[in-house]
Amino acid sequence: MTLLRPNETHDPALASWVESANDPASDFPIQNLPLCAFDPHPEDDEGPGEEHLGVRIGDSVLDLSILFQHLADSRQSPHDLPGIGDNADEDTTAILADAIALGNANAVMSLGPYGSALFRRCAQGLLRSEFKTEALARFLQRRALRRLDDVVLFEPAVIGDYTDFYASIHHASTVGAMFRPDNPLLPNYKWVPIGYHGRASSLFPSGMPVRRPSGQIKADDKPGEPPSPPVFGPCKLLDYELELGFFVGAGNEPGETIPIGRAAEHLFGVCLLNDWSARDIQKWEYQPLGPFLAKNFASTISPYAVMIEALAPFRCPASPRPEGDPTPLLYLADADDQRLGGFDITLEVYLSSAQMRAAGAEPLRLSRGSSRDMYWTPAQLLAHHASNGCPMRPGDLLGSGTLSGPSPESRGCLLELTWDGPGKPRKPITLPTGETRTFLADGDEITLRGFCEREGYRRIGLGDCRAIIEPAV
Ligand code: CA
Repeated sequence: MTLLRPNETHDPALASWVESANDPASDFPIQNLPLCAFDPHPEDDEGPGEEHLGVRIGDSVLDLSILFQHLADSRQSPHDLPGIGDNADEDTTAILADAIALGNANAVMSLGPYGSALFRRCAQGLLRSEFKTEALARFLQRRALRRLDDVVLFEPAVIGDYTDFYASIHHASTVGAMFRPDNPLLPNYKWVPIGYHGRASSLFPSGMPVRRPSGQIKADDKPGEPPSPPVFGPCKLLDYELELGFFVGAGNEPGETIPIGRAAEHLFGVCLLNDWSARDIQKWEYQPLGPFLAKNFASTISPYAVMIEALAPFRCPASPRPEGDPTPLLYLADADDQRLGGFDITLEVYLSSAQMRAAGAEPLRLSRGSSRDMYWTPAQLLAHHASNGCPMRPGDLLGSGTLSGPSPESRGCLLELTWDGPGKPRKPITLPTGETRTFLADGDEITLRGFCEREGYRRIGLGDCRAIIEPAV
């Protein structure tokens, strides 16, 4: 499976004519090139914003829509672009060129691994230092390279459907222990990748503020007293959840499945996902049908789809199952997926309160962990989702579920981080200003970060996933 192994596009010696990308500390070298969608003229707020497709490179965005529109207008063939060449399939190249010119990320994603590889090689060819002297490179420098500060980034695709899983056994076990001390992990967990259907309309790009939700909240009943009725009001236990999001590439027809051995080829890219959660609303509403209004007021995603191929050097084995755990059923079992189906992405969460920002204090790191600890691989999540014939469509987003690792420092939400054991009061986190938090306050800003490092390869990053909490209405 070529998608799982590094190739010539990951060569650390490759450099770009965009100098900022050659800084070893950059998360966006020429080996990364995540797809993004953006408004190139945000200052012009007449009418609906334009949407162009590009790739992030160093401190800039390369506007590929401008390039492909230019080729179409001047009747030049995309086959002459570097990275495409004579061997590329005519139909795929034509669809890719139209999709990029029109700013249609979903059409790019629909082309599957072959189209993704063409897209990435084309972008890489255009940006290589060797290409700098070509007339087209001068056109790109003049017309298509935009500083990040001058554009507004959207979600990297139109997300039609969003499903959130529960793939970290460490998260599931800790949260289970809070609510069911005698039976933390339900018996289906090690057999079924547990998930629920979320709502795509409340997925927002990084930077958009999140309003504290209101909902039904019920106080705990006291022994010997009659149960109190719920009240409707602002959430008091607002939390974040550190997750990865996986964009579906080519989909499947209704009634057909995505076999586990092909599932990696149906994933287009990865983003960071903050699944904001109202714990008090959740606690009252979640039984018997699962999460609902505690989750769908807002989820924030980072604005880049880091392509699966770019992550090949950072693949790792599926998390080993403890002795005695069941072997996955056949439709979830694949040798390649077990060998290299995981991702070793370092994940961090930072908090900055309004007071900290006013005092000029650095954001406080709340946790650090890795996506290598997922109990189910992304391919298993996708194969399971389509195993009943559910059609998956290009641009659909699959959330990993809160990614907590085995150590307390790697817990991916405040519900876990401030838990001090059954029956004990929550242990607050102290901020540099002396303020304390067990859950989020208005004005708090949460930033998720993700990056990959490995000897012999360039570091690549996922970008920031950031939002500030605004007071309830
Ligand atoms: Ca979640």
